[in-house]
Amino acid sequence: MTNRKRDVGKDTEVIESDNPRPIICWFRRDLRVRDNPALFHAASTGLPVIPIFIVDTELIEGIKSDGAVFDFQAECLQDLATNIEEIGGRLIVRTGTLTDVFSTIIGETHPRAVYFDRDYEPSAMARDLAATKFLSGYGIDVKSFDDVTIHHPEDIKTSNGGPYAVFSPFAARWRKLPKPKPLGKPSRFTTPRLSSEPIPGGEELGRERLIVSPIVRGGEKNASNRWNSFLRERLLSYADARDLPQVHGTSKMSPYLRFGCISPVRMYWDLAELSLNASERMSASTEKLLSEMIWREFYTHVLYHFPYTAERNFRNQFDLLKWAFDERAFKAWKEGRTGFPLVDAGMRQLNATGWMHNRVRMVTASFLTKDLFIDWRHGEMYFATKLLDIEKASNVGGWQWSASTGVDPRPLRIFNPVIQSRRFDPEGIYIKEWVPELRKVPPKYVHEPARMSPALQEETGVVPGKDYPLPIVDHRAAAEYFKGEYAKAKAGHRPSKLSR
Ligand SMILES: Cc1cc2nc3c(=O)[nH]c(=O)nc-3n(C[C@H](O)[C@H](O)[C@H](O)COP(=O)(O)OP(=O)(O)OC[C@H]3O[C@@H](n4cnc5c(N)ncnc54)[C@H](O)[C@@H]3O)c2cc1C
Repeated sequence: MTNRKRDVGKDTEVIESDNPRPIICWFRRDLRVRDNPALFHAASTGLPVIPIFIVDTELIEGIKSDGAVFDFQAECLQDLATNIEEIGGRLIVRTGTLTDVFSTIIGETHPRAVYFDRDYEPSAMARDLAATKFLSGYGIDVKSFDDVTIHHPEDIKTSNGGPYAVFSPFAARWRKLPKPKPLGKPSRFTTPRLSSEPIPGGEELGRERLIVSPIVRGGEKNASNRWNSFLRERLLSYADARDLPQVHGTSKMSPYLRFGCISPVRMYWDLAELSLNASERMSASTEKLLSEMIWREFYTHVLYHFPYTAERNFRNQFDLLKWAFDERAFKAWKEGRTGFPLVDAGMRQLNATGWMHNRVRMVTASFLTKDLFIDWRHGEMYFATKLLDIEKASNVGGWQWSASTGVDPRPLRIFNPVIQSRRFDPEGIYIKEWVPELRKVPPKYVHEPARMSPALQEETGVVPGKDYPLPIVDHRAAAEYFKGEYAKAKAGHRPSKLSR
């Protein structure tokens, strides 16, 4: 059974028995106790609760993430375990296939129900459907709750009853809907005595850790602290600063939203409160941040209604684009050695921290698809291995937006990586943070070091082609080529076999 209402308020069915049957609360990407609908409602029953995290061996096999992503998850789980203990319970960790773990725990505890917070990624929905069938086969009640987004994708429809594929009308509809209130901390509960395993990090799961300095540390407490300090210190300037990668003007809440260390409902209400009687500047910033959060909901909605977009172009005429694949160019892009400093800075930030600034994500994705003419799916997959905030919906959405093959059509835009660099990092501060070999290059040349005179090359110690790569592509020619191929695909023609 699914429960679409967040605050049912009727779960107080205390069973008067010496040995009441417990409720299993199955944690997945909702790693917090506060404002967690599944945990809140499980605890409200007054029955014992088994908070469980299943290290799903089948699922993990298919995840290609860097070890640091699993380490981040482990930090979230450690904090979750502490927070659960503070309210009387105990987090149980078990490894295996879902059916094996559930069969064992059902045998051990005879649970009355399993509660979980829904996830709308297509593979997660298939898993949850299979798990629900399996549990129902044992006569166990299954209840699931909205959590990953503020509104369920079925709740936002066009006047024709179909899903939205354009952001602005989606956002307008989204804003009009009444919002659920945060649920707060659950009541105290007990957990039956059960064996539990250590929380595994990347190493235990056999993952190499290449990300050396993750952008943030995992856990509900860290999420809360970051959010509160962002609201206090940076929100006011968000609208002005969010596009400038050197300013650290965005919240960096994305990894926490990904692992559910904070709920979007709480973030929404905090912003709503701050926007009351706010100055013009504060209103502009709260509006802008809310709009970005709605982009996240929009992409979740798109992937839910159009699951094929996980792998294929939303607009299928672009299936006619015959992407090229140059292994050396792809490697240079991945490693941040393209000779375009902003692109290189972004890729090196990603490789070192598991996060990249949004403006630079757009520039690096545009560069891969429109300058190198490499299929967006290669870039999407690479981002998926590195990002701590990896969300299939936003990643695919961002990549298809950048490749101009996705929803929300707008005139074809091709970012010029040098102009973007001059505009958003004029002094080259961000570039120099991540491409230190350019630190002595003056702002005028830091966006195009290849244009330095031999005298300046000597003075700065940067000889292009030796100390820093020469541009691997001619942007103008590449953009013209992309435009031609894109127009042909749009018109339904097969692209020419122009060699590049
Ligand atoms: C090619 C590409 C791939 C991307 N992949 C992901 C991804 O895997 N996971 C992910 O969370 N975001 C992704 N984004 C969106 C965006 O870059 C990140 O959400 C943002 O950089 C996170 O930083 P922040 O928390 O400081 O954002 P803030 O500016 O502080 O925004 C607050 C929150 O709003 C949401 N948000 C902001 N911008 C966007 C956006 N453009 N699309 C969707 N949600 C947004 C995020 O949840 C973010 O945490 C991608 C963008 C592009 C162009």
